[in-house]
Amino acid sequence: MSSTPVTTPPRRPSLQVPPHPQWPALSAAETHALKTRIAAMLAAQGAVLVAHYYTDGNLQSLAEETGGCVADSLEMARFGATSEARTLVVCGVRFMGETAKILNPEKRVLMPDLKATCSLDEGCPADAFAGFCDAHPDHTVVVYANTSARVKARADWVVTSSIALPIVTHLKAQGQKVLWAPDKHLGHYIERRTGADMLLWDAACAVHEEFKSFALEQVRRLHPLAAVLVHPEAPDEVVDQADVVGSTTQLIRAVVDMPNQEFIVATDEGIFWKMHQLAPHKTLIAAPTAGAGATCESCAHCPWMAMNALQSLERVLLDQDQEVQIEEAVRAAAVTPIQRMLDFARTNA
Ligand code: SF4
Repeated sequence: MSSTPVTTPPRRPSLQVPPHPQWPALSAAETHALKTRIAAMLAAQGAVLVAHYYTDGNLQSLAEETGGCVADSLEMARFGATSEARTLVVCGVRFMGETAKILNPEKRVLMPDLKATCSLDEGCPADAFAGFCDAHPDHTVVVYANTSARVKARADWVVTSSIALPIVTHLKAQGQKVLWAPDKHLGHYIERRTGADMLLWDAACAVHEEFKSFALEQVRRLHPLAAVLVHPEAPDEVVDQADVVGSTTQLIRAVVDMPNQEFIVATDEGIFWKMHQLAPHKTLIAAPTAGAGATCESCAHCPWMAMNALQSLERVLLDQDQEVQIEEAVRAAAVTPIQRMLDFARTNA
């Protein structure tokens, strides 16, 4: 089916950001018992956990204790492709499960909740995106990992935040113009850093967009020795105040490697679990968000990542009902731009 050509990116559809799921509080003994039951089920099912840094700390610790991995989306993709497990249980949001399935069609990929989406993914519908691409055939299509399998299938390259800069720098050196989707903030950051000729889709992360520059200035005055760490999905005015702008992995490394004792962190608070684990004596301060009434409940924690909990993980291992399925033609088309990124990462590490 041919799509309607468009020359400018359509406005992203408004997205209903859900409230955070309210999981019943567990005592330490209940948490231990639940983790023990899940570990036994993982072993019995030949399954391994692949968890993102933004998920609950209990999931991250369980993943490490049971031979799985805790990582950013690039490392999650790499781990899934090298793991010998028959089943990958991806704790994160749907595009991460889809990426695991795209790279591992022979494996079963489960998620605690398939409804865990991402505002960037939702903000880039495949048909509208195809029309935008059709209108700009002279551009190389680069999409962020936070997209659906159908959008990836239309791309020349898939990138994660940890590798987007070197790949766009590489494309610019080849004289290529870039059509970028979906995150306008990350796209604009890369455009400023590389000077590449980029057309930007209009979508944003509902969590990172809530970080506010004025409030951040006030927090910096209260903590003048703190280093400011910002994920590039945040708006320009927040990025401009950063000492370090980087992917989740790069921000975690900054906490470990920098001499500062205090850090103001502008990304999802789930990342604090890994930062505390690697640098327990350092102080982490959550960067301020917009306050009550903002679109994403202003808590610096992704409501879709919060759908991942020990309880939902146990349920899917019992019910086996949240399996990622992708039409084979879409999967086969989407694997090429992802593999291109993984090959680039291997040869340019
Ligand atoms: S934090 Fe933002 S980019 Fe990450 S999954 Fe949530 S909505 Fe998507």
